[in-house]
Amino acid sequence: MASCCHCRSQSIVQDYEQAFGVAVCSACRKYEPTISKSNAKSTYLLSDADLARLGHLERQNPRHKEFSAMKMLLVSQVEEVAVQKHGSLAAVAEEKQRRVKDKIEGRVRRRAAEVQAAAVAQQVAARVAAAVGRHSAQPAGQQAQEEDFVDPETGKRQKRFAPEYAAADVEEF
Ligand SMILES: [Zn+2]
Repeated sequence: MASCCHCRSQSIVQDYEQAFGVAVCSACRKYEPTISKSNAKSTYLLSDADLARLGHLERQNPRHKEFSAMKMLLVSQVEEVAVQKHGSLAAVAEEKQRRVKDKIEGRVRRRAAEVQAAAVAQQVAARVAAAVGRHSAQPAGQQAQEEDFVDPETGKRQKRFAPEYAAADVEEF
């Protein structure tokens, strides 16, 4: 008969032994904490595949009872898998720090690009405003005026911009 791995008590918790293969009594269960699978994945940077071979207990989601049961894994077993994958728990911590740093740097880069795009848009707007200003400052005769004219070939009434024709004429000669 198995006995508690901490105090050698004979009254071990059945579901722990069945799920995790760990013999522990109810008093010593606190030394063998569990962690939800989703929490384990983010905490130790592991995938479903990494954790597939670990046993689990099912626990009803405390906040959303209608949700499917949470899979609870044994922290010590999750850490073993994490060490196998990343080399050490310190390496997991370093990798997490690196990812946070990358995320922040990415955010800073995106923000800088946004600021630059806004500056360019402002320059374009200023240039357009200046061009419009120059345009309306031109003598009345040269202002863009939409005018109706009848096409002599088709007899249809059309619209044209007087200065465009003027400009085209100038360029042709
Ligand atoms: Zn015990």
